[in-house]
Amino acid sequence: MSNNDANNENKQPTNFIHQVIEQDLDQGLAKVVTRFPPEPNGYLHIGHAKSICLNFGTAEKYNGECNLRFDDTNPSKEDQEYVDAIKEDVQWLGFKWAGEVRYASDYFDTFYSWAQHLIREGKAYVCDLNAEQASEYRGWATEPGKDSPFRERSAEENLDLLERMKTGEFDEGSRVLRAKIDMASPNMNLRDPILYRIRKATHHQTGDKWCIYPNYDFAHGQEDAIEGVTHSICTLEFADHRPLYEWFIENLPVPSKPRQYEFGRLNINYTVTSKRKLKQLVDEGHVSGWNDPRMPTISGMRRRGYSAQAIRKFCDSLAVAKTDGTVDMAQFEFFVREDLNDNAARAMCVMNPLKLVITNFPEGEVEMLTAPVHPQKDLGDRQLPFTRELFIDRSDFSEDTTLSRKKFRLLVPGDYMRLRSAYVIKAEDVVKDDSGEIVEVHATLIPDTVGENPPQGMKPRGVMHWVSATESKQATIRVYDRLFNVESPDKGEGNFLDNINPESYSELTNCWIEPGLADAAPEATFQFEREGYFAADRYEHSAGHPVFNKTIGLRDTWKK
Ligand code: ATP
Ligand code: MG
Repeated sequence: MSNNDANNENKQPTNFIHQVIEQDLDQGLAKVVTRFPPEPNGYLHIGHAKSICLNFGTAEKYNGECNLRFDDTNPSKEDQEYVDAIKEDVQWLGFKWAGEVRYASDYFDTFYSWAQHLIREGKAYVCDLNAEQASEYRGWATEPGKDSPFRERSAEENLDLLERMKTGEFDEGSRVLRAKIDMASPNMNLRDPILYRIRKATHHQTGDKWCIYPNYDFAHGQEDAIEGVTHSICTLEFADHRPLYEWFIENLPVPSKPRQYEFGRLNINYTVTSKRKLKQLVDEGHVSGWNDPRMPTISGMRRRGYSAQAIRKFCDSLAVAKTDGTVDMAQFEFFVREDLNDNAARAMCVMNPLKLVITNFPEGEVEMLTAPVHPQKDLGDRQLPFTRELFIDRSDFSEDTTLSRKKFRLLVPGDYMRLRSAYVIKAEDVVKDDSGEIVEVHATLIPDTVGENPPQGMKPRGVMHWVSATESKQATIRVYDRLFNVESPDKGEGNFLDNINPESYSELTNCWIEPGLADAAPEATFQFEREGYFAADRYEHSAGHPVFNKTIGLRDTWKK
């Protein structure tokens, strides 16, 4: 155990990476340096959050540092919009990267000189095979490849060709720079992998300076080495790339020797965590954008009302395993619900209004009642205007007086009900329209029952939420549910798009909120009594036009 370990307060379970780090610290490692290396070709999602929590959390735990580095080696799919969104998301999760944001492209000059170094050492060559030929020469997993006919070019010729690739003399796809390793290696990644390819694209950071770009493998380990990263944590699909990672570290004049460790990707059922698929959902308009509240993106979850703390707690609760795993969405939602139950302010919103007239309350009068913002925490009080005309939820009233009192906590004629934080009332009568639909319920209030029990024989059937019909504000409520209605949207026949839950989004506009809620700050979260948890929309909520997003129901209704 290292000294650092004794005074850390990190709640992450120990994992195999931390075990390695503790050994390294025991053997004299001075400082742990990790990095989170997103490619800016999409928004971050819940899987990235796990990687962020692991990388930043590990650095925090061992008093080290974590860099944010954009792996921007493929300009054709990358964009500044993604760079900005990723930075915002990492900060919102509550992490601080060490120093400035870094970019793989910051090191392009160094990579180029290292490519020249390999050529001089006889360890790299320019290859003119086209893609089809190259794949034929590469062989199969079970069958060795063949040496490229360009493998024995002289260093002079290779240096000249590489320079000319760099100055734009050759077409895309006409030549690549390859490492000279082993065309018979059982590991395909070692069969003379590509180091540079020609891409005549404008890069979001370097503009038109380059028209050759390094491959991931010829960039990642070197970036780690330049930055002094000690533990380069990535997902399992890179395990087969590790020998190549190490080959570059061994064969280049790098300033430090990082090591790569792989852990299992996080997958969650009922959603997808492939950037390509998320991008397709956005591009084809199946969702309103990367930050649609149904998306498993960090910005989507944020807009939905998930807190950074709930996401971090969930990620920290997960094992860091050496196999990929799928976690139940309900497990994630448990953390979201628990966090909201602890922190969301209580409020009332009537989503399907029915008018309730209190016949013994004077017209035009407003009585201000108070209610606690939170039942357990001392978060102060809120003001509830009580008036003659109220709204209650249509589903809370029934004309059927024979319904069991115990089972149905409904307002029925002739019976008593407590209005939350207000009076006990007794329903007397209904008013119907021509079609027979109930348009008003008439009731009387029992005096002196605010915060007090009613007299004997007037026991309420239950507690109902309500708002003033004259003082409340109208709001738009966006009701969200899981984006997919099957556990594995990716699997089975057809396309993942076929599994989109058609009921994952609906909008209610005839909703009525406590007047104070109109002034809610964007992103503030609430428990609307009996309805669930809601968040004021980050972008579209305003006092003049209140908009709330449903975060999640009060209970898990997806249980089978
Ligand atoms: P791409 O296919 O575009 O490379 P990616 O999901 O690997 O997609 P990156 O931007 O390269 O996205 O990922 C940044 C970091 O986050 C990497 O270290 C990657 O291993 C990690 N990461 C990505 N997806 C997950 C996931 N589902 N679970 C855990 N870590 C992940
Ligand atoms: Mg990747």
